[in-house]
Amino acid sequence: MTISTPQRQLLADAALRERASAVVPGGVYGHMSVMRQMPPSYPQFYSRGSGARVHDVDGNEYIDFMCAFGPMIAGYANPVIDAAAREQQVLGDALSGPTSHFVALAELLVETVAHAEWAMFAKNGTDATSIAVVTARAATGKTKLLKARKSYHGANAWFTPAPAGVTAADRANIIEFDYNDIASVETAVAEAGGDVAAIIVTPFRHDGLTDQEYATPEFAVGVRAIATRIGSALILDEVRTGFRIDAAGAWEQYGVRPDLTAFSKGIANGYALAAVVGIDAFKQAASEIYVTGSFWMGGVSMAAAVATLGILTNGGIAAMTSAGDAFRTGIQTQAEAHGFTVVQTGPVTMPFLRFEDDAELSTVFAFTDAAIRRGVILHPWHNMFLSAAHTDDDIRDALERTDDAFAETRSLFPL
Ligand code: PMP
Repeated sequence: MTISTPQRQLLADAALRERASAVVPGGVYGHMSVMRQMPPSYPQFYSRGSGARVHDVDGNEYIDFMCAFGPMIAGYANPVIDAAAREQQVLGDALSGPTSHFVALAELLVETVAHAEWAMFAKNGTDATSIAVVTARAATGKTKLLKARKSYHGANAWFTPAPAGVTAADRANIIEFDYNDIASVETAVAEAGGDVAAIIVTPFRHDGLTDQEYATPEFAVGVRAIATRIGSALILDEVRTGFRIDAAGAWEQYGVRPDLTAFSKGIANGYALAAVVGIDAFKQAASEIYVTGSFWMGGVSMAAAVATLGILTNGGIAAMTSAGDAFRTGIQTQAEAHGFTVVQTGPVTMPFLRFEDDAELSTVFAFTDAAIRRGVILHPWHNMFLSAAHTDDDIRDALERTDDAFAETRSLFPL
């Protein structure tokens, strides 16, 4: 069998990579650097997006299952959200104080997120997790921070997974436990000698390179009970999961409410915004810490967030769940038809895909490489993202192309 390999031109992309490498360390850095960590056929630079589709700088169109790594949640160039943002944009973004959207958005979060009795705003997820930790320390007067091994909570010195440029002192107050292992949380508590300001945890385990793992009810209930018992804060890091599982809170399904929650990514559909919400007991401490940023009060992203949350709480999460369900089922059926065993984990709105017996990732790299050449953006080792804008047509078109990508992959790895 001969499988045709669709050719695309990535000429403008290649030229930009070369120019970037000359003037930017590493060319492109961070989680969006395909130059460092993805198959060579991935575009690095994009020009525009609409709904669930993006165009690279060479004009090739893709159905996007990365959604900007989460921020896009209701569609690129969503007309309702962009109109709300534009209305404030023409009036001004960074003014000498917040706009009325600041108050309206705080009210909306208090109404929407079950445990929220107050809200604060910033720009990135790292801001939000940092504010939550500092609030917890101010409220408890304690020091140590307990986090799950390999869980990512931000790029500052105490959280970044990369050792370069970080000192042991930066990490001195972090003690790690294993996700879904309450005994290991107890061990970490004992190691801290009672000096625990906060336990920070993601709603499910979404580390890269490994199967995603839901929190067991025992774990969610257990960390809540431990935090209460030892007088520390339970911080739920919903930077990645926020409004893709349950707008009221990802652990509502277990009846577990954190003290503080960090949001960012999807909260304003791509406009830069983060939020921390909390319970009343932490409100005083949150008012005493000094946290701020030059752009944190900007009204545009807050106007966008009000519009985004309106969409997500009115059928948006259900729509992305149904699109994610259809995509997962389609991928599973196709994989089996082509004689592959794939393992799909995590919520369908944040799918993670791997091939069985693929420790070196060669099969998943070949498959995602074949998919990208056919106009479908998938990730070989990171969780992906669905949005409320993934239509039936997007899923059908994507599955037509992934079927062909599976066929090409099979031709490279014959049975
Ligand atoms: N927490 C989690 C769970 C995240 O996934 C991320 C970003 N991937 C962060 C915090 C940090 O967010 P940001 O990159 O916006 O600073």
